[in-house]
Amino acid sequence: MILAMSASSSVTSARVVSFEVARHLVEQHAVGVCSGEVETVDLLAGLGHVLAEGIVADRDFPPFARATRDGYAVRAADLAEVPARLEVVGEVKAGEWPEPGVCSVERGQAVGIMTGAPLPAGADAVVMVEHTSLIAKSVDVRCSVTRGENFVPRGAEARAGQLLLDQGRRLDHAGIAIAASVGKSRVQVFRKPRVAVLSTGDEVVELDPTPGPAQIRNSNSYSLAAQVQNAGGEAVRLAIAPDERGRLRSLIEEGLDCDLLLMTGGVSMGKYDLVEQVLGELKAEFYFTGAEIQPGRPVVFGSCGSTVKNSSVKKYFFGLPGNPVSTMVTFELFARPMIEALAGMTPQRLVFLRARLKSEIRTKTGLKRFLPAVLSGEFENAEVELARWQGSGDIAALARANCYVVVPPDRERIGAGEWVSLLMR
Ligand code: AMP
Ligand code: MG
Repeated sequence: MILAMSASSSVTSARVVSFEVARHLVEQHAVGVCSGEVETVDLLAGLGHVLAEGIVADRDFPPFARATRDGYAVRAADLAEVPARLEVVGEVKAGEWPEPGVCSVERGQAVGIMTGAPLPAGADAVVMVEHTSLIAKSVDVRCSVTRGENFVPRGAEARAGQLLLDQGRRLDHAGIAIAASVGKSRVQVFRKPRVAVLSTGDEVVELDPTPGPAQIRNSNSYSLAAQVQNAGGEAVRLAIAPDERGRLRSLIEEGLDCDLLLMTGGVSMGKYDLVEQVLGELKAEFYFTGAEIQPGRPVVFGSCGSTVKNSSVKKYFFGLPGNPVSTMVTFELFARPMIEALAGMTPQRLVFLRARLKSEIRTKTGLKRFLPAVLSGEFENAEVELARWQGSGDIAALARANCYVVVPPDRERIGAGEWVSLLMR
């Protein structure tokens, strides 16, 4: 069930929900939001796009029984007793086709074979070259093999016509390898969603002019644009909105022309935090107006009806708190799944990793905390420690961190050596 509030009630009676409820609300609203518009692009240009078509095997994989070792193609029964001497009757390199009858293995025979080469007729195993000695036209084999050893049978990985990669998968290097292996030099992908990024605040200024003594550069617009791209969207950075209703409203309306609107700042309880009020004027529906998390408690999620080509469509928005670390964290927790869904991706559940805590954490109960942390150590011995930071405005600390430790709302203290949950960033 999807819950909503009317615009008028929302501003006065905030709906603050747990982290899990907030996340699930976003996931529920994200179902079916992709426009379905498809474009065909060169394979490498598809990196980071979401597949609008399934990738199907155009032939068997592997297309022939493929040797996985350098050595000799043999009949396993000939090596029931070792050492054994076999007659070498030929050689097959990768890229060569062993014509049956010309290059095949009869009882007591072997054919030299290289990794990636097709297994000759009659052979049912490959013995590794390390276990053999070549003596004139014979080979002495010191190790027995079982049937099927050291080669992959034709079609064992996939049969011709089989689906290798589903639509809704975001193309990464592995997906690109699969598309390439079936000969797809062009792929059908979904159009990337356009995501408006709107920073609000009288103190916020653009990067180039030297800021006045009380001014703050608009870093959120850039961090968000980077996160949007990283999540599979196309960022549209709007002008900075002052804490003034009229201009804020017209910029919000401009942002609602995109597929999604992300706003930062102006969602807290301050006298000039006007975002929710202006959204209320625009008849927004609010699904939550806060989440029991830190950083990022004032995060807002809702939608507005918008008229596109004379038909009414629902446009979702997030109001993210202006503190830069809060902006980044709330993006990852809530905006990312919506952008992924708009981009056509099959929904992914959020899972946390686990690592051992290096030094004790003390905090207050009541909120689920996502605290910037450093995961270090090596190989299997990972350990995590909170980054030293000055609160939600401290981007320098966040940049030094490589993950967040997730602290449950009921924990006041977590001791060194305990397992904790992590969200990588
Ligand atoms: P707000 O959520 O509007 O109360 O802002 C919280 C804090 O975040 C304030 O210290 C703001 O100056 C800062 N802040 C707001 N917007 C931005 C922005 N676009 N870039 C960097 N910092 C910002
Ligand atoms: Mg503000």
